[in-house]
Amino acid sequence: MKARAARRRTALVSLVRAFRDAAAALPDALVAIDDERRIRWFNTAAGRLLGLTWPDHLGHRVDEVVAIPGIREWIASGGAESLPDVTAPGDAEVHLGMRLIPYADDHALLLGRDISQVLRLEKVRRDFVANVSHELRTPLTVVHGYLDLIEPEQIPEYESILRELRNQSRRMTQIVEDLLTLSRLDAEDALPETRVAMGPLLRTLMRDAEGLSRGRHEITIEATSEHDLLGSPKDLYSAFSNLVSNAVRYTPVGGRIAIAWQTDTNGGRLAVRDTGHGISPQHLPRLTERFYRVSTSRSRETGGTGLGLSIVKHVLQLHGAHLEVHSEVGAGSTFACIFGAERLLPPEPLCEEA
Ligand code: ADP
Repeated sequence: MKARAARRRTALVSLVRAFRDAAAALPDALVAIDDERRIRWFNTAAGRLLGLTWPDHLGHRVDEVVAIPGIREWIASGGAESLPDVTAPGDAEVHLGMRLIPYADDHALLLGRDISQVLRLEKVRRDFVANVSHELRTPLTVVHGYLDLIEPEQIPEYESILRELRNQSRRMTQIVEDLLTLSRLDAEDALPETRVAMGPLLRTLMRDAEGLSRGRHEITIEATSEHDLLGSPKDLYSAFSNLVSNAVRYTPVGGRIAIAWQTDTNGGRLAVRDTGHGISPQHLPRLTERFYRVSTSRSRETGGTGLGLSIVKHVLQLHGAHLEVHSEVGAGSTFACIFGAERLLPPEPLCEEA
């Protein structure tokens, strides 16, 4: 009996050792912590990346010895959301994605994955798109400029070809401009902020919509708030006008379009509502992806680039805001930009005349 128990113990110990050796060899940082957040074990990568020394740091509270900003609050909150990008305390060249994985009796594994290579590739992709767009801009401007000099009706035998050339060069120019806008937004952490006067902005959006619609739709403004927004006027205009242009382009003749601005104590809501084609639910989660279109032909026919909603999403993100979409096929869609209360500015007092 004794001998069997000893054999079992030896087998168990070697199994535990094998597990530890395997975990120790992982390239990701791994720290086992107990219910008081004290370090019970960590692997070699955790020593290097998180700046821990074996065995000195065993028994220490992890949030006192791992120098990641905000780690204490993050662990205290249960760490349900991962920390997507932190600089490794043990190696400033390395970026880590941090996760907290709970296991038996309030214990947890702190996992730090080296995401430096992924970030590098992401940067290469971003730079590539920005460079290609930039390089295409000049030749396209030249082609577009020359085509604009020729009046198709003056050369009847080539009239339809010239019109098609013009349309396609305009489309390409718009795609390049949209890609450059996206590259710029991608590279920004924050945008310059000033008062965005909503009254004039709504009137401009209405004029844009009327210009695009050319009398084919009924367009209204529903502004129940006098508040302005704090943000980047140029970028917010670009986001809102993308929504307005979509509403016009995806609403058949005779449809209604409303541009609404309302605020309450929770924040502000700029919504563009239409009675257009609508979108079926399975497409909604993917609408803001680059080049995602519900119907490629409809998007092309109406001069779409497939980048508009992606620009909207980026601009809103940089304002701490988000997009909400409600849509029903055949009934219409509402695209609403939701802003937090900290973005609202009360109307400016009118200057008293002397
Ligand atoms: P596009 O340039 O193709 O319009 P967007 O990024 O602006 O690209 O929109 C993505 C897709 O979402 C569009 O191709 C279209 O299918 C759909 N969509 C956007 N706005 C509306 C709308 N108001 N009504 C119906 N479909 C829409």
